[in-house]
Amino acid sequence: METRRLGKTELQVSRIGFGGMTIPGVSKEQAVATVHKALDLGINFIDTARAYGNGDSEAKIGEVMRTRRDECYLSSRSPKMDYQGMQAAIDESLRTLGVDYIDLYEPHDVSRTDMYERLMSEDGALKALHEAKQAGKIRLIGVTGHNWGLMQKLLQSGEFDAALVTYNIANREAETEVIPLAKQLDVGLFVMKVFGNSRLFELSPPDENRKPTVDECLRFALSNPDFPMILTGVKSPEEIEQNVSIANTYAPLTEAEQKAIRQFGDRLGRGYCYGCNYCMPCPAEIHIPGILQLLEYQKRINWEWPQGPERYAEFDKTIDDCLDCEQCEEACPQNLPIRELLHEAKEKFSQAV
Ligand code: SF4
Ligand code: SF4
Repeated sequence: METRRLGKTELQVSRIGFGGMTIPGVSKEQAVATVHKALDLGINFIDTARAYGNGDSEAKIGEVMRTRRDECYLSSRSPKMDYQGMQAAIDESLRTLGVDYIDLYEPHDVSRTDMYERLMSEDGALKALHEAKQAGKIRLIGVTGHNWGLMQKLLQSGEFDAALVTYNIANREAETEVIPLAKQLDVGLFVMKVFGNSRLFELSPPDENRKPTVDECLRFALSNPDFPMILTGVKSPEEIEQNVSIANTYAPLTEAEQKAIRQFGDRLGRGYCYGCNYCMPCPAEIHIPGILQLLEYQKRINWEWPQGPERYAEFDKTIDDCLDCEQCEEACPQNLPIRELLHEAKEKFSQAV
């Protein structure tokens, strides 16, 4: 498969990267077969996270790394924003993956100001990342997030070599919010949610009997020259084969196709929270995107998620504090019934705490 330079990381990455988010939802055998197939097909970047299945994704990938570590770059991440938490998380990732080093490690989803401040503080996670780099446990430091304003601050800090951001036919904010800055600073950008956590496949514009396809979602992202690599979350060897086949044979979208697909993306009802933060600040100080993201994880990924209630309990304010001002729903570009979803999150997560 074609490879491209991932900005100043200087990694030469395959156009499709393996996203490890969905493999906690399948058997170990199937997950292992899928990772093997990805490597067989020339994918050289395997991405996972501590949070995916509470280490289950890392463990399944680790099975393959026993024999094929030298065939790929590995990326993992942790939502711990404090020094000790990040230190422990990196060691746990190394142990679970069964490897001596990880190529790229990221603070996971830095989407709130308090997370940003904790991460960058004197005893924050960034210090632990630097130490791990010096010790040879990780090679490069990246970052992931859904808040464009914070992502700009993170990149401007000069601390991060790569950034993982959302981009798909319906959510194209990265083009204006992050690409110009990343290009200027030579930060390697790679893409997540190219299928909108598979939610895009369920949407069709009003009065149109057509849903987005894997082919057009992937072709759209691959056609953007500012993204060297697109991560796809796959659950089977067949799915990875399909994605790789598209990447190996696609023709970049023509100008007319670009226009048509963008208009199609605009007409989609959208319908899922992708963390743009336009609903914030909430006068009741409810962290709406944070709570809705938890709900998305729980709904979209078919696995038991023990951290859900634990993460929910970290939010001081919930739907119980809502003032019914409606301003969040007016501001949401996805037209989400935010209060209804906040109620759903409460039902789902608070009982088990
Ligand atoms: S309706 Fe509730 S959740 Fe939405 S902005 Fe107002 S107080 Fe916050
Ligand atoms: S609820 Fe809507 S406005 Fe708020 S972050 Fe999600 S998509 Fe954006």
